[in-house]
Formats: sequence, structure tokens, C-alpha cells
Amino acid sequence: MTLSQSFTQTQLPINVLQNSVVVFSKNYLPMARINIRRAAVLLVSGRAEPMQLSDQPEPGWQLRSPSLILDIPRQIRMRVGESDRTWKPPSVSRREVLKRDGHACQYCGSKRKLTLDHVLPQSRGGRHTWNNVVTACEPCNQSKAARTPEEAKMLLAKKPKAPCHPVIAFAEQFWQQTDT
Ligand SMILES: [Zn+2]
Repeated sequence: MTLSQSFTQTQLPINVLQNSVVVFSKNYLPMARINIRRAAVLLVSGRAEPMQLSDQPEPGWQLRSPSLILDIPRQIRMRVGESDRTWKPPSVSRREVLKRDGHACQYCGSKRKLTLDHVLPQSRGGRHTWNNVVTACEPCNQSKAARTPEEAKMLLAKKPKAPCHPVIAFAEQFWQQTDT
């Protein structure tokens, strides 16, 4: 049995396992949250190293296997570079548009009876693209009808655009939470 296997098979208190560790890329970009077990495997196999965000000591967690005690920090950094996988935005679908818009009508904020609205109506040449499709509740969609938001005097919550790379989105969210 290898070291990393012995850690993955170690019985841990449930409360420790519920915690998560933030993984940074080799270039210090926060990439994802992973569970303690996966973090332990990355550390033990040498693919990642502990990382501190501040000078203050940050309490982590301790894992015990029969042969070793391993300190798991709150952040780890990959030692190896991620291969630069090509990524392109998902195609425009109801599921993806609702996800981008936080499952809320972009005109009134309602979270009920959600539909897709073409900002410039399709009947007037509007295309089915990330920049022209937003989440709208049924009442807003009906009252807007075949008009633009300006004509209908209905303001959009934000300008629609294609979702960004999931790693970038995670990084932005992470730093926002860390700044507070
Ligand atoms: Zn609405």
C-alpha cells in the first residue's frame, strides 16, 4: 500500500472531512476547492505544497494514518503546471443561461416562472447568442413582447455576456470573499 493510499483509507472524523482546501495553480491563481482527502494525496505525492496567504499562522487540520501525521493547510499550491486545456463557453441553452444569471429574472429579479428572453427580439433579427439572451420571468417576457428593453422601459440588471472560464470565475469569487 502506498502512502497516499493509506491516507485515503484512513478513517477520519466527519467534521474534518467536511472541510475543504483551496488549490492554487503554480502561478498562484486560486483554482478550486477540494476535499481534505484529495489535498492529502496531492501533498503526500509531492504534486502540491502547503501555501500560506498571510503572515499570520492559519490553523489547518491534522490527518493521522498508522504511520504518519500529516498537517493539511487551508491552501495548497500545485508544484506542476496545469496543461493549458482549451476552453470555450458552453452553447447557449436554458440551463446555462439561468446559471449565468443566478436563476433570476434580469428585469425584475423574480426567481419564479423563468423563461429565456431575446433582448433584441428574434422577430427583429435578434440572434440566439450569449450577448442577446437573458433570463426573464414569464410576466416580464410577456409585457416586453417584441420590443427592446429601451422601448419597453425595462432595465436589464446587467449586460449579458458569455460566461468566463470556470477557473477565472472561481478566482474572482475567491478573492472577493477573502477581501471582506
Ligand atoms: Zn421579471
